[in-house]
Amino acid sequence: MAYTDFSVEEIDTVMQDAWNAFHVYRKFSLKQRAAFMKAIAVELENCGDALIHTAMSETNLPEARLRGERARTIFQLNSYAEACEKADWLGAGIDTAIPDKVPPKPDIRKMLVPLGPVVVFGASNFPLAYSTAGGDTASAFAAGCPIIVKAHPAHAQTSEIVANAILSAASTCNMPKGIFAHVYGAGFEVGKALVMHPHTKAVGFTGSYTGGKQLFDWGNQRKDPIPVFAEMGSVNPVFLMPEKLDAAATEIATMYAGSITLGVGQFCTNPGIIIGVESKALQTFVHDLGKAIQKTAPAAMLHNGIATAYKKNKDSALLQDDVHLVAESETPSAVENPDGGLSGLPTIATATGQAFLNNPVLHQEVFGPYSIIIRCKDMQEMIEVAKNLEGQLTSTLMATENDIKDNDELVEAVKNICGRFILNSVPTGVEVCLSMQHGGPFPASTDARFGSVGADSIKRFARPIAFQNWSNNLLPDELKDENPLGIWRTVNNELTKAAVL
Ligand code: NAP
Repeated sequence: MAYTDFSVEEIDTVMQDAWNAFHVYRKFSLKQRAAFMKAIAVELENCGDALIHTAMSETNLPEARLRGERARTIFQLNSYAEACEKADWLGAGIDTAIPDKVPPKPDIRKMLVPLGPVVVFGASNFPLAYSTAGGDTASAFAAGCPIIVKAHPAHAQTSEIVANAILSAASTCNMPKGIFAHVYGAGFEVGKALVMHPHTKAVGFTGSYTGGKQLFDWGNQRKDPIPVFAEMGSVNPVFLMPEKLDAAATEIATMYAGSITLGVGQFCTNPGIIIGVESKALQTFVHDLGKAIQKTAPAAMLHNGIATAYKKNKDSALLQDDVHLVAESETPSAVENPDGGLSGLPTIATATGQAFLNNPVLHQEVFGPYSIIIRCKDMQEMIEVAKNLEGQLTSTLMATENDIKDNDELVEAVKNICGRFILNSVPTGVEVCLSMQHGGPFPASTDARFGSVGADSIKRFARPIAFQNWSNNLLPDELKDENPLGIWRTVNNELTKAAVL
């Protein structure tokens, strides 16, 4: 189905409506916001099979994966709604007055308030969980912000079904006009106009480095710069420590063959670089991983653009000095692929530590079922590799306790570059819970202090305000002496639900 790009005038109308809605919605109670989010979850469920079948036809993702992704999206909406109401994220704090202090200490009370209209750009590889009603949308609604979603052109129809579900929930919950808008634009002009519009107060983005950095730059070039929370690609390095590799080379190879090819490698947490020290165990690992990759069938990628970029980036990596092909899939695709050009061929390459250190091309994400094994000559070179890596969403150590105790410098170097530090597991699979960190030092994301998964992500779309010397009846409920909402607050440096006496 063809969708027409929004004009500058249409974008202006949408943003004006969002701005008007903001001044109504920001006064809505946490309970009202939570009820709206839960209503969206119900509407998503009500979309039934039509939503799943449309997403299947637009993304080539299998039915089971999309059903799971819808369940995850619903879980996000419901769990962030509960967190919204519980209000821990507000960071409510109260310091009562001490009039006889010299000079007198005033009464000060602080909490988070919403930023304003948020523009959301979703990713093609998560048409539901990181798109129209995904994590950014759930967290911005919880924070009290209206949302403008730019539909991802690779799944515009799926996005439209979800947008209608949100609008239907908005109507049931008597939300103000402009609380949510769905904007189309296949070119970058629409994205730029949305980020640059004076009523836009924040941006949530999930996608490529190129896209995220561009939006971040636009956000910063405005007369009034705004935060652009961009979650971008990552190579998610995996360090194979000597004692662990000696004990379990074959087992690790099997585990990683699955992780590298999961979802045709189309996850931002895909393990793109695996680093080990030259040894017999590393040879076993390379051999066994290669064999497993040969046996893994290729499958259709999300869309032509992603498949073409995968082939181009993989071929470019394989052409670099001292890079060698270990193995490619030799198994025919299980499903007849109507467009052979869409296939993502599972591939493993290898290079020395020195080749990696000399060549920044090898540090870049190849989005798809590809991974390069870096063979270091010794632990010192492995440390050098770790210190030369850019910021990452995740880093993984495959290690015994001795490996960790004996290699403090390496462990610290790896910890320093990532948002999630994994031991003896795979980086693919991101649990949605409060303690998750999905973000990392640049270029994994544009602000390593925040993440896009878990209810803490609500804080991205809010700012602190301190009320000084306000009488109790004029304060927001969250900060009133009697604590009518029964929330946790830090009162005179103590975390409590008690009323202020
Ligand atoms: P993408 O090409 O960056 O697209 C994401 C969205 O941004 C689309 O709506 C796209 O619009 C827009 N966009 C991209 N470049 C732009 C630009 N220069 N100006 C304005 N808008 C722009 O990413 P994708 O192909 O959907 O997803 C794959 C990438 O996302 C991979 O690199 C993956 O690692 C990353 N990813 C990251 C996470 C995470 O949580 N960190 C999660 C999933 C995926 P158009 O389509 O109109 O270009």
